[in-house]
Amino acid sequence: MSVKINENYLLLESSYLFAEISRRVEKFQTENPDAQVIKMGIGDVTKPLPKAVIKAFNEAVTEMGNSETFMGYGPEQGYSFLIDTIIENDYKSRGIELDIDEVFISDAAKCDTANIQEIFGLDNVIAVTDPVYPVYVDSNVMAGRTGSIQDSGRYEGVVYMPSTAENNFIPELPKSPVDLIYLCFPNNPTGTALKKEDLAKWVEYARENDAIILFDAAYEAYITEDDIPRSIYEIEGAKDVAIEFRSFSKNAGFTGTRCAFVVVPKQVKAVDSEGNKHDLNSLWNRRTTTKFNGVSYPVQKAAEAVYTDEAKKEIQENIDYYLENAKIIKNSMEELGLDVYGGVNSPYIWVKTPENMDSWSFFDLLLEEANVVGTPGVGFGPSGEGYLRLTAFNTLENTKEAMERISKLSL
Ligand code: PLP
Repeated sequence: MSVKINENYLLLESSYLFAEISRRVEKFQTENPDAQVIKMGIGDVTKPLPKAVIKAFNEAVTEMGNSETFMGYGPEQGYSFLIDTIIENDYKSRGIELDIDEVFISDAAKCDTANIQEIFGLDNVIAVTDPVYPVYVDSNVMAGRTGSIQDSGRYEGVVYMPSTAENNFIPELPKSPVDLIYLCFPNNPTGTALKKEDLAKWVEYARENDAIILFDAAYEAYITEDDIPRSIYEIEGAKDVAIEFRSFSKNAGFTGTRCAFVVVPKQVKAVDSEGNKHDLNSLWNRRTTTKFNGVSYPVQKAAEAVYTDEAKKEIQENIDYYLENAKIIKNSMEELGLDVYGGVNSPYIWVKTPENMDSWSFFDLLLEEANVVGTPGVGFGPSGEGYLRLTAFNTLENTKEAMERISKLSL
């Protein structure tokens, strides 16, 4: 055998979290076949696509079956009908000007947040919050931008910025130099958001230190408070230093349909080994045209319909529904005397475990005594130890039932 693998893959920690959750739930269910387990661990929406979206989707599928309206390959970067609609609704309305070639339509934010690192040199230092959405770290491990995982649960060479109750979930600016900063607000998993003034400190840091912010705004639609920016470009100067990721998954229910977009402003620049500046928009465009042939026409038509008045109304009703579940979870856990975070600008509720209980012990207690499944916080990074994530993506009935069961526990 002489074919070699990419050995960076061997550095990856096995995807232990969700496999271990499934193992424990299955074991419990086998031993307790009558137990009605309620799953509050999954980050997937439960409401179907809005009617206006389905209508546009269906019409576009019909077009594909007719020789006069059939569409073959589209632009790799996405159709202008969708990009124009995005710029108008998500940006122009908030005073942010973007050119049509600064927005790239994709088949979702997981791929975009994983792929973006390709356009950067391997010697860049990445910084992530801890706990973190694992895709940011693992994609950099695969690329060879890190060392191996340490006993601390952290990869060598990565700068981790703890985000815990102690710092109010506002990560501190890095003390050592970093190049690429992954930020996700509203945050998965903590459910917390950054106020404009706090995000502005990051933009200032990036500008002063020649760093670039990779800003994941997948949960933007859940923001309810006025002082939380919906786009990083609401911060002055951010267009020089930030790339933004958005998705139709969590607002419009596209988790199974797949559509998202990345904003790469033309003025975001990085240097080559000789110090010459290059704009990242051109690099991302080159990567996109080389490796991608665009999102399907019906899916882009469906995404365009997300911005119709009819769909917007339905989307808001769905988000209000999830946020009502979040409120019920938050209130119930607080009534039990626990410290609870998130759930106001986010579908995620981040619960501090009872004293002397770690994430997995609390997980087991809820499973065994209340038949409710959460996600142990430690699975998102060492600073998640001592927390558990519950999600509002469930029916109101299940949410109420789960909270009723948990409220009977003596913690
Ligand atoms: N970013 C964050 C923080 C997420 O939590 C998720 C999904 O859970 C994604 C991105 C991926 O979303 P998409 O469905 O667009 O791939």
